Amino acid sequence: MTTTSTAAPAALPETSILAAEAVKALAAVGVDLDDHRGDAVATTPITGGGLTSLAWRSTHDVAVAVDRAHAAHLQWRDAPAPARGALVKRLGQIIAAHTDQLATLIQLEVGKTRTEAVGEVVEIVDMCDLAVGLSRQLNGNTLPSERPQHRILETWQPLGVLGLITAFNFPAAVWGWNTAIALVCGDTVVWKPSEATPLTALACQAMLRQACEQAGVPADLGQVAVGGRDVGESLVDHPLVALVSATGSVRMGQQVGERVARRFGRVLLELGGNNAGIISASADLDLAVPASVFAAAGTAGQRCTTMRRAIVHNSVKDQFVDRVAAALERLPVGNPFDKQTVVGPLINNSSWQAMQAALATARKDGGVVVAGDRRHLAQEAPEAFYASPTLVTMPSQTALMHEETFAPILYVVGYDDFDEAIALNNAVPQGLSSCIFTRDVNETEAFMSAAGSDCGILNVNIGTSGAEIGGAFGGEKQTGGGRESGSDSWKAYMRRTTATINASGKLALAQGVTFEM
Ligand code: NAD
Repeated sequence: MTTTSTAAPAALPETSILAAEAVKALAAVGVDLDDHRGDAVATTPITGGGLTSLAWRSTHDVAVAVDRAHAAHLQWRDAPAPARGALVKRLGQIIAAHTDQLATLIQLEVGKTRTEAVGEVVEIVDMCDLAVGLSRQLNGNTLPSERPQHRILETWQPLGVLGLITAFNFPAAVWGWNTAIALVCGDTVVWKPSEATPLTALACQAMLRQACEQAGVPADLGQVAVGGRDVGESLVDHPLVALVSATGSVRMGQQVGERVARRFGRVLLELGGNNAGIISASADLDLAVPASVFAAAGTAGQRCTTMRRAIVHNSVKDQFVDRVAAALERLPVGNPFDKQTVVGPLINNSSWQAMQAALATARKDGGVVVAGDRRHLAQEAPEAFYASPTLVTMPSQTALMHEETFAPILYVVGYDDFDEAIALNNAVPQGLSSCIFTRDVNETEAFMSAAGSDCGILNVNIGTSGAEIGGAFGGEKQTGGGRESGSDSWKAYMRRTTATINASGKLALAQGVTFEM
């Protein structure tokens, strides 16, 4: 983490310069914006201005895209899995070759710093590598049969069309996680990106199209439908969409989950988090402080894994608060294209308003704002929302702290007893990420035990954010229960068949049942 002695905001560029950067980056990946003009506007949170006009897709367009993706699936499912892997290998190479351009678009649409935007692209390339390896390892099981000369085979088969709905904060990586795995599994993809990030989506789609052309496979394997909630809803309701993978808020997941369940489709939900770090009495504060600062303030608090609650042993609480507050105050907030900047803008005014409302409630609940709570660059760009990462000490874990406010606020509560810390960690309705800073092996084990953290992600001496792709990523409770990325997450993208083969020449019934004829 770069810190300076002052948090002087870096100056902002003109929107027209940013718009020109977008055109350049898109052209480099083969997107001509003139082919996509329409009534909607793609904006940048860096200035709050419009980058370009853009056409949004209709629900009819979604129906056409799903039909095409379904037709493509009927061919693609017969391609050998390693051949499917060859396409994903090419996709990874094309994306790697355009890291700069894709990172620029992510910066323009989300306001991420350069290192975070490049990291997002690297994550996709890594996922492509993982998927290529998987394409030779989509293995099932052979199981012993209770009947003589019988064999039971479990096989994983392609599922069909994946309807992909993504959030604004990882506008490319979540597409990459899903698409790389879905394609090697023999599925095809129709993607509805966030309304805030259509240009990044067009760039990803163009690179997939190039990969398809170069691999000589149908371009309809992957399609994008840029648009609003109606576009997402028509994907959710389409009977040919076998799996809906949706990343976003709990509110969205509740709507999507119910609608897909009604038609007995499958869902993979990656929803909101409300992640805590436990800082124990034995914590190495030289680790815990910078890790907490990064986890709370990185991506301007707009990661699903952002640390929102610090549960700190009362013996180290004052020290922790002083050090984190000092570090937060020094973080340069401003133009994400400036090399010094560590914290960029919030995505929009609603996020800023939600942050202000949360801080007002926190104060009413007895909270004390120790650092942050300032807006930067409001004069230069009244439509852009640059918020100082904010630290609030709370007398207890209040109802407010049970909600996810998608902004850089870190609440601190104290604890005396370790069980109390675990109870506070688990008391919220979400269950995505959690971490503990401790040098006590017993606390580590207790944190990771069945009675420990109830989250999907458990980190020890690491902050809550910044997961690697090798493990399965996702969370419990209102986070939705889905798992994406590595490990055996690929199984969500396939259907399992159980086949029993009789090579005995005799009819033997299971469980010793007889049937005399
Ligand atoms: P959001 O819920 O507002 O929107 C997400 C996507 O869902 C958008 O594409 C939106 O158009 C679409 N959508 C909304 N309502 C819909 C409906 N009824 N039917 C179909 N589609 C619908 O979320 P956001 O503001 O873009 O992203 C922030 C949220 O995403 C946070 O809660 C964050 O924690 C969560 N998130 C979770 C993960 C994870 O892996 N768990 C990752 C990234 C973001």
